[in-house]
Amino acid sequence: MITSVKSLKELNNDIDRLDPVAYGQTRNYLDGAVSKLSPYISRGFITLPYLKDRILSRVSLPDAESFIYELCWREYFQRIWFAQGDKIFTDFKNKQLPIAHYHLPQVLLEATTGIHVIDEQLKSLYSSGYMHNHARMYIASLACNIARAHWLVPSRWLYYHLLDGDLASNALSWQWVAGTFSSKKYYFNQNNVNTYSRTVQQHTFMDFSYEEIMKMNTPPALQETSELTLKTILPKPTSLSLDYTKSLFLYTSYTLDPQWRTNTNANRLLVLEPSHFNSFPVSDNALNFILSLAEKINDLQVYVGEVTNLPGLEEFPEIISKQHPTTQHFPGHKDEPAWMFPEVPEPRGSFTGFWKSCEKVLIRNTPI
Ligand SMILES: Cc1cc2nc3c(=O)[nH]c(=O)nc-3n(C[C@H](O)[C@H](O)[C@H](O)COP(=O)(O)OP(=O)(O)OC[C@H]3O[C@@H](n4cnc5c(N)ncnc54)[C@H](O)[C@@H]3O)c2cc1C
Repeated sequence: MITSVKSLKELNNDIDRLDPVAYGQTRNYLDGAVSKLSPYISRGFITLPYLKDRILSRVSLPDAESFIYELCWREYFQRIWFAQGDKIFTDFKNKQLPIAHYHLPQVLLEATTGIHVIDEQLKSLYSSGYMHNHARMYIASLACNIARAHWLVPSRWLYYHLLDGDLASNALSWQWVAGTFSSKKYYFNQNNVNTYSRTVQQHTFMDFSYEEIMKMNTPPALQETSELTLKTILPKPTSLSLDYTKSLFLYTSYTLDPQWRTNTNANRLLVLEPSHFNSFPVSDNALNFILSLAEKINDLQVYVGEVTNLPGLEEFPEIISKQHPTTQHFPGHKDEPAWMFPEVPEPRGSFTGFWKSCEKVLIRNTPI
């Protein structure tokens, strides 16, 4: 269960305490100094430029760079989603081969792989909705490259449980691991798990050299699969109090920004569209997190329904939302998305090329 949802003030304190140097040195360790800010970033509660600028107001660029580099991965994935839309849900650059099935290995669902660290990470995902990046890479590699499941169904399962569920980071990270968005598949072995979890487990089905693992058949432990039935239980629709003489500002579960257009006295609605949540289900934990964030935005009411069915939509003098792949069909004006590097063109190739362009802008714009 999620213990508490932070306010913007508390998040600012967290950001101001973040040590980007320790982050750079330890982020791959499961107990490393990671920020755990992603649920708030994914939901749009804090934006990437806000976070970058707040860090750079306190820390020098060389010290902050490894953290900003990781933020840039999110911007890269987001901008591919904005530009390419649903293509991110198909094998993006290469076909995934070989594929044995389109399911999830049962042991991932039950947290019974026998690799203690991975099972602990899975249990913690189910209870807290958070999982460390390295553990996400392990389970994606187990599912796609060892059990040879196509990446899409397992990615939906992980997305369902994550508080930071973000369709772009999720789909494209799974594809990166499965080799459909990268030049090679990602593999790990028990020794790697032991190093990054500071544990010493031996004799598991991953306790082999990389050469052996890349050639091995799917171990019996990973062969059983499970059918997923993921469903979002949306809140019951409630009556809304709307003033048709004022503007209507529309939010989604990805654009819950408490600092957005706060100077205007407007109707503010979080739109939870059943069609979206049917296509991309989220767990109770994730939904409760979204609703708790919504409570932190002044006068934000929750509308459960399709945006086009909102009563009296045409009567509002003005309708405004934020530009996002999930708001394309929203009526009215769309505010530009907040990028860290708006002057860098849409990514067309690798992350490395995108980062090089962003880094140039970063160096040029950051006072020494
Ligand atoms: C298989 C898989 C699935 C993933 N699914 C999601 C998802 O649904 N939602 C999501 O937000 N992230 C996803 N990620 C990316 C990454 O794991 C998380 O963003 C990160 O672990 C969040 O924890 P943190 O905030 O403590 O990260 P930190 O390490 O503190 O990083 C700070 C921020 O940098 C960004 N970042 C860091 N690492 C990555 C990365 N590898 N890719 C993209 N952005 C990154 C995130 O915005 C993160 O919040 C996935 C990664 C993998 C391998």
